[in-house]
Amino acid sequence: RGGDVPRRHAVVLDVSATAADGIIRKLVKAGYEAYLVGGAVRDLLLGVRPKDFDVATNATPEQVRAVFRRSRIVGRRFPIVHVPVGGETVEVSTFRSGDVRHNASGRIVRDNAYGTLAQDASRRDFTCNALYYDVIGGEVIDFHGGMRDIAAKRLVMIGDAAERYCEDPVRILRAVRLSGKLGFAVDKHTAAPIARHVHRLAGEPVSRLFDELMKILFCGQAEACLRQLRLLGADGGVHPFLSALQQGLDAGAGVVVAALRSTDARVREHRPVSAGFVLAALLWPQVRVLWQQGMDGGQSAAAAMNDAVMQIRGTFERDWGLPQRYSAVMREIWLMQPQLANRRGARAFRLLAQARFRAAYDFLLIRAECGEAAGDLAQWWTAFQSADDAGKRRLTDALA
Ligand code: ATP
Ligand code: MG
Repeated sequence: RGGDVPRRHAVVLDVSATAADGIIRKLVKAGYEAYLVGGAVRDLLLGVRPKDFDVATNATPEQVRAVFRRSRIVGRRFPIVHVPVGGETVEVSTFRSGDVRHNASGRIVRDNAYGTLAQDASRRDFTCNALYYDVIGGEVIDFHGGMRDIAAKRLVMIGDAAERYCEDPVRILRAVRLSGKLGFAVDKHTAAPIARHVHRLAGEPVSRLFDELMKILFCGQAEACLRQLRLLGADGGVHPFLSALQQGLDAGAGVVVAALRSTDARVREHRPVSAGFVLAALLWPQVRVLWQQGMDGGQSAAAAMNDAVMQIRGTFERDWGLPQRYSAVMREIWLMQPQLANRRGARAFRLLAQARFRAAYDFLLIRAECGEAAGDLAQWWTAFQSADDAGKRRLTDALA
């Protein structure tokens, strides 16, 4: 993969206040090489706030462990060290050779040998992700022209892209996410093999795909990423969730678009998002179809919703790798939708007292804004919440 002699660029990145900076200095003092690496260097060069600060070093995990008393070695296949500093944890990984073993289809089955800095750079995915920042010398070490590609806002795979997608198909989703999130154009040699190799994702564990999908949904540019997915020809059958999402978007489902946009806005403003809530909105079109079918078949709204949720939940958890902590929230939000229409007597008071009321009400608001649920119903709940006791009683009495 070439890139044996790196370029060194004098750059000042302000990392002095980060935990990673202190860790790097301590490792260097102990006689090792250590750098800030990966997404953090890339993001700092772009003026974006990094999500996490990773450190790469020539010290073995045991040697790192000896420098930081409270650190832990994690990961069996490839051990790395977690160093806790204050409230955060910094990942310190030893240079890897990328000396990989492939199976018959080119998939990496083993890549656990330690290596040199140059080898560590070559085993990374994109040139912009293979930059090492020497915090003491104030230099970026660049083996693969990552600085030039960042300046040109170009996503370029290191080495032969087709081979690298075979080694690890999840790199396709990383190309989608990083180009969408950073607003980079995907280099033509990096983009061209994607459509041909996207089917390989089907061989990956659903849970790993789901994790990658969550990163796409919550990177702050989910809409742009979904456009990239199409553009790169990676939208066919990658993950049932993605197909469902794309179906929802194509059907012009207002709720899906509204949820994506508001999530993007919130993430970009560094405001918290509830993943369960967002997922409930994104998958709502699937639930709504089943719900409608039940009601068309003569079931009550509540009974039809109950059946729809039961039907869909197993699929989500078993076949899609959706963790229970999300599906539980989603289920509660969905089940409360028909209940919110049932406000007579003491019911409204009971609903208001439920833990998930707020989320279910917010969900109803989105549906109303998208012209789906009766706007009157949403307005009624808005009024009910802010009314005093007497006002609340007047509102429920008025329904009778
Ligand atoms: P983010 O902003 O999401 O943190 P990132 O590029 O830092 O983006 P991480 O998953 O944190 O992504 O990975 C850290 C680094 O590890 C990457 O920058 C890249 O160098 C390398 N890396 C991660 N996944 C892969 C992969 N599948 N193949 C090769 N290198 C990878
Ligand atoms: Mg990262």
